[in-house]
Amino acid sequence: MNHTAPYPIGTPGTPWGAAEKAQWLAGQVRRRSYADEVVAAIEPLRSKFDVVEYGTLQYGDERFPLLAIRSRDRNDALPVALVTGGVHGYETSGVHGALQFVRDHAADFAGRVNLLVAPCISPWAYERIHRWNAEAIDPNRSFRADSPAQESAALIKLVEPVRDRVLVHIDLHETTDTDETEFRPALAARDGKPFEPDGIPDGFYLVDDSENPQPEFQKAVIEAVAKVTHIAPADAQGRIIGSPVVAPGVIEYSLRKLGLCAGVTDARYKTTTEVYPDSPRATPEQCNLAQAAAVCAALEYALAHP
Ligand SMILES: [Zn+2]
Repeated sequence: MNHTAPYPIGTPGTPWGAAEKAQWLAGQVRRRSYADEVVAAIEPLRSKFDVVEYGTLQYGDERFPLLAIRSRDRNDALPVALVTGGVHGYETSGVHGALQFVRDHAADFAGRVNLLVAPCISPWAYERIHRWNAEAIDPNRSFRADSPAQESAALIKLVEPVRDRVLVHIDLHETTDTDETEFRPALAARDGKPFEPDGIPDGFYLVDDSENPQPEFQKAVIEAVAKVTHIAPADAQGRIIGSPVVAPGVIEYSLRKLGLCAGVTDARYKTTTEVYPDSPRATPEQCNLAQAAAVCAALEYALAHP
């Protein structure tokens, strides 16, 4: 693969305008169904949980209900645990790992915490297996006031009433080979910047908040996930994806400053999972299990250290 070949859309060094974004959008193909794979998987949960439609995403004549799952017997004396997935629609195990957590483990937390689970924040991108929304915006750089991304603005509004009571927030992601072959080159092209090739780590890792690091919490999640799938090693420079490794499988970002989903509350415990689905050593089932295990460990740790 020739990494120096220019991205096929736009002029190198010049940020995209409306014409380039339209050209990009025209090339996006619907590859799977949010209704069949996600909405249909949420339906059976209505017998035990409250399902709320917290917004409708609209692009052209396409509409997507934005759905969240909540504990039925909410108790205001209990803290809130927020679980988010599919902020990046192509990161499949974030969506299905969140749903698997609800199906298989949410009952274990009944009476201990109020659950709020938004499993697929970016349904248009889920269908296109893409990172951006239809306006070539990354929702996971858009969690800020007056967000330019409908997906992010809707979640901010959903969380607002309980924002001060969120004890723990876990945001479920993947780092994939297509990050390096498609999404990072597209990002560089969109912004008129050079693409700097980097590697993709083989294994699971977490992103902590550099503004409020919680190393023991991150460690508890890593230890739980290590029983399900392998943890990403640091590269020769002691880094994962360009950031210094602060503990096995853990890096830090300034969540709020970057407009990341995990910075949407002031929760004491925040983390972003990064599953590597393209590993020859990981199956899709394992990726979903890793996400669900991470959620369980995060909630158990937070509830034991409120
Ligand atoms: Zn992601």
